[in-house]
Amino acid sequence: MGRAFTYVILGGGVAAGYAALEFVRRRGDATPGELCIISEEAVAPYERPALSKGYLLPEGGVRLPAFHTCVGANDQLLTEDWYNEHGIELILGMRIISADVRRKTLLTSGGETISYKTLIVATGARALKLEEFGGSGSDAENVCYLRNIEDADKLVRQMRSCPGGNAVVIGGGYIGMECAAALVANKIKVTIIFPGKHCMDRLFTQKNAEFYENYYTSKGVTFIKGTTVSSLEISFGKVTTAILRDGRRLPADMVVVGIGARANTALFEGQLVMEKGGIKVNGKMQTSDASVYAVGDVATFPVKLLGGDARRFEHVDCARRTARHAVAAALDPSGAAGDIDYLPFFYSRVFALSWRFYGDNAGEAVHFGDLSLSASSPPKFGAFWVSAGRIAGAFLEGGSPEEYEATAHAVRSGVAVPDAAQLAREGLAFVVRE
Ligand code: FAD
Ligand code: NDP
Repeated sequence: MGRAFTYVILGGGVAAGYAALEFVRRRGDATPGELCIISEEAVAPYERPALSKGYLLPEGGVRLPAFHTCVGANDQLLTEDWYNEHGIELILGMRIISADVRRKTLLTSGGETISYKTLIVATGARALKLEEFGGSGSDAENVCYLRNIEDADKLVRQMRSCPGGNAVVIGGGYIGMECAAALVANKIKVTIIFPGKHCMDRLFTQKNAEFYENYYTSKGVTFIKGTTVSSLEISFGKVTTAILRDGRRLPADMVVVGIGARANTALFEGQLVMEKGGIKVNGKMQTSDASVYAVGDVATFPVKLLGGDARRFEHVDCARRTARHAVAAALDPSGAAGDIDYLPFFYSRVFALSWRFYGDNAGEAVHFGDLSLSASSPPKFGAFWVSAGRIAGAFLEGGSPEEYEATAHAVRSGVAVPDAAQLAREGLAFVVRE
């Protein structure tokens, strides 16, 4: 028994939603058997970033249907009805357990075989578990990860069950920092623990990280750096204490774990060429099999701006743009879509703060602005990365829309920097000209 579709989008996250909208824009409504989305999740594609921000607010938290794709890009809100109205079959709550690229088939957990002519892989990434680093305790009632709505609901339940209590946050990356801010908003005392020297150490410079750590500290958050949790003490199914490698014991009413993500490539290992932890694609987002495209967190693609270097990004803007590009390329095999020309862009919002990053944090970092906490409110500062005499990357906290736009433009065009001291002195004015 099986069904056949011309186009199958595997995965029902951010990239899937943007791919569906692009499909309808280019082709009109799908005809029966033309396009389906298969997702393990029970709901239509949504803007995942909301889960660590609006979803966790103590009051008036955002809930579906308000954040289905594609509202994050100020575009149409695609509810389940939208997919029905446009002839797109949504197969929800269904896991694909194996794929046969040669035969062009997928096998569902329900035992059904689904065949395709063109496949768009949008399986995203999964949260790494403590157990993968020799730890334990992930199954405890009050240990939370954050990747999907179920995780977010568990996190909300745990926060509500321990007002004024203690949370231990393991990991000082995106999840750790965003969840810590949400926990504080929910009046929970937070200790963040991570092995590195400072938070967000793959993106933030020491100087920028210091600002955010000081800001969080002023909100009551405690940082424990350069170590990890060695074990969690559990009583009646709940963690009571986190024990650090150096023997310190921290009382815990709840634990949030954000220790990185891994792209969901397993279905295609040994069938498609892999690179840098993802599925290798060309500038059309096409894999080593011409019938299969890969997009979003799972795709490693050549970034023109970085000299064609193959990169994989775990960020929402990339999911949106690569999805649209793959659909454009798949619907017009003449090659008219060309190769993707992507400007890497990430952002985060915590407390009253908000930053954006563009490009590559390669080369010498030149800081600008005032990073002291007592400075005028709201803060505005950042860093440019200068490589081979040009701006290669930029980080900006507290920019206006015009300033962000000018910063992005400076990175994209690789503005020349003859004198780093001038760049440091002028800061944003160097790229924002009247
Ligand atoms: P996903 O959105 O993860 O979707 C993957 C989909 O595939 C899921 O529906 C999954 O269930 C499904 N799937 C996987 N395997 C199978 C299978 N075998 N069978 C069926 N279905 C399957 N980025 C930013 O730039 N800014 C932010 O502020 C930001 N906030 C974030 C907050 C959170 C809590 C998280 C988890 C991520 C955040 N990100 C953010 C990252 C961003 O959300 C991801 O980069 C983006 O979701 C990637 O889109 P995707 O479609 O590739 O993967
Ligand atoms: P990150 O990779 O951002 O951060 C992982 C953190 O965990 C780092 O601080 C790392 O420290 C630490 N760590 C690694 N191993 C261990 C360990 N064994 N014990 C304790 N700490 C450890 O991953 P996240 O989990 O924060 O995020 C998961 C995914 O969600 C990513 O894809 C991310 O891009 C995405 N996301 C993006 C957001 C955004 O763009 N605003 C917001 C939320 C999520 P060190 O670096 O020192 O090794």
